[in-house]
Amino acid sequence: MTQRYILHLDVDAFFASVEEILDPSLKGQPLIVGARPEQRGVVASASYAARAFGVRSAMPTAQALRLCPQAIVIPPRHKVYGEYSARMMAILSEYSPLIEPLSLDEAFLDVTGCQARWGPSTRLRRAQSSRSGLGSPEELAHRLQERLEVELGLTASIGLAANKLVAKIASGLEKPRGFVVVPQGKEAEFLAPLPVEKLWGVGEVTARSLHEMGVFTIGQLAELPAGQLEARFGRRGRDLYRQARGMDDSPVVLEREEKSLSREITFAEDIGDMQILRKKLLSLSESVARRLRKRGLRGRTVKLKLRYSDFKTLTRQVTLDVPTDLEQVVFDQAGRLLDKAWDRRRKVRLIGVGVSKFAPEERQLSLFEGTGEEKADKLRRLSQAVDQIREKYGDEAIQRASLADGDRDEKSKMR
Ligand SMILES: [Mg+2]
Repeated sequence: MTQRYILHLDVDAFFASVEEILDPSLKGQPLIVGARPEQRGVVASASYAARAFGVRSAMPTAQALRLCPQAIVIPPRHKVYGEYSARMMAILSEYSPLIEPLSLDEAFLDVTGCQARWGPSTRLRRAQSSRSGLGSPEELAHRLQERLEVELGLTASIGLAANKLVAKIASGLEKPRGFVVVPQGKEAEFLAPLPVEKLWGVGEVTARSLHEMGVFTIGQLAELPAGQLEARFGRRGRDLYRQARGMDDSPVVLEREEKSLSREITFAEDIGDMQILRKKLLSLSESVARRLRKRGLRGRTVKLKLRYSDFKTLTRQVTLDVPTDLEQVVFDQAGRLLDKAWDRRRKVRLIGVGVSKFAPEERQLSLFEGTGEEKADKLRRLSQAVDQIREKYGDEAIQRASLADGDRDEKSKMR
């Protein structure tokens, strides 16, 4: 395979940095962007001055303020961040047509063609090349970092490698203003000392299994034979085997569409009542399904997220045979996941539901078969009618409490 140059760019403390730009008096101060502790909010972004006190993203604001009482808390302004994100992506798009945004402040760029693009074969290219000093992917990456800082006031960290997996890990290693280049062929060596948790798809559960096998670093993982990993982790074992060696040939894909749709809610008070959780889950499922239909999307994976009162967070997901945009299906699956996942000993602080793995439109119809197709069509017509009424008269016009009760009956029947 020919050498690829993949760059991963991630803005440092994005929300907090934007707030500092808009109000320079905040510069250098411990700053937390997030909901207030009395709203039981969490830290969305923290400035490096706040991180010095141990403040981290996703930490409850109340806990962050115990670590750093003098921190200034600012509620997030997503519209402004969206504008900065658009300006940043516009700059990135000058350097490569192949950009894959991962979030507002993070993207992959395939800059493999940049030498041809910026090379000295035409006058225009020569002019641009000499002006910006672009030649190698490394120079391009430096230039990008510099432009974001000069033109937007944002610092970013960059990882440059032969693939996405390694580039992303590299960009996170030396934040802020990180710049880590991993030469082709040095991937395994680069990854070896890092903890296995750095790899894609190694979550809490997989990490625990690996730890039980005495594997803590990626280097230790790379010593395990493929057969042993496959026996332990199934098909994912093969991915682990490849990732441990820094192998990844996934392409940078232009991804304008959302990859998942989700909704979650943090309760004002922790909930220990299944019926209340199910009611919430129903309204979240409705909301997600309605947004799916609005965008003409159907998803194959339904995901449940739970956060306990002690902040332990877990996600569970299920893959459907037929992609869906129906609240009945989303709720049914999410409800089952809740039933299995919730330990009932701990109260629930947050619950969320999401749908992902969107299937292209044309493949979807043929997947419905026999009575299943009829039923799904009927449900879809009903859902669309409800959407129209709500569009016209507002969300409160129709309540689907009956769905929750009906489902409960069904479940007690199942038991
Ligand atoms: Mg970032």
